Amino acid sequence: MIQVNESKSERERMVEKQITARGVKDKRVIEAMLHVPRHVFVESVYRHQAYNDYPLPVGHGQTISQPYMVAVMTELLELKGDEVVLEIGTGSGYQTAILAFLCSKVYTIERIAELTKQARSRLENLGFRNVSFMVGDGSIGWSEYAPYNGIMITAGAPDVPNSLIEQLAENGRLVIPIGSEYYQVLNVVKKHKGRIYRKELFECTFVPLLGREGWKE
Ligand code: SAM
Repeated sequence: MIQVNESKSERERMVEKQITARGVKDKRVIEAMLHVPRHVFVESVYRHQAYNDYPLPVGHGQTISQPYMVAVMTELLELKGDEVVLEIGTGSGYQTAILAFLCSKVYTIERIAELTKQARSRLENLGFRNVSFMVGDGSIGWSEYAPYNGIMITAGAPDVPNSLIEQLAENGRLVIPIGSEYYQVLNVVKKHKGRIYRKELFECTFVPLLGREGWKE
């Protein structure tokens, strides 16, 4: 198991300056951001930048998201602890670890097998036992374990994939960047009494969601 106290003061500074100062209030999200060691999820050459206010490369042309973006997207799911969450775009596994800290079970999908392998090993070393990984096209979700109380898509999509709306539980929340392949607007989608409500929040930039209900490869 990895020693999570290493770099604690850097995490405290990150949370104070980048997360709470910008309005993230959910105490559980703040606790998760203080707990999970972000430096474990970046390549050694970027370790000294792990707590800085920007995304970093994780190989294969992909990125680990900016800490603030991770915190905001997580807060939008309004997790209380007993939810089952689907994540699309495992990447480094950092966001996966934050989710796993905050809910009962995480299902996470990544299309690049090597990223899944690294993420799985990092989460196991950190002691997380409530995560299932899949290599595949997350734009069509993971119907076997649906419905999900929360769905988080950490790649930019042209629209909300229908499969993901179908796999969202009643009163569930889905967070997704929607727009072009180069820049998007963060959207939160809610399902209430079978109806879908969607709200646009703010501009953001994510790598594209590639797949059957995303951008064509
Ligand atoms: N949340 C990640 C983290 O904390 O490191 C960052 C995710 S990165 C911004 C987006 C990820 O989505 C990339 O790893 C990319 O390979 C993946 N991706 C893109 N399209 C996908 C799809 N259809 N299914 C699964 N993963 C996909």
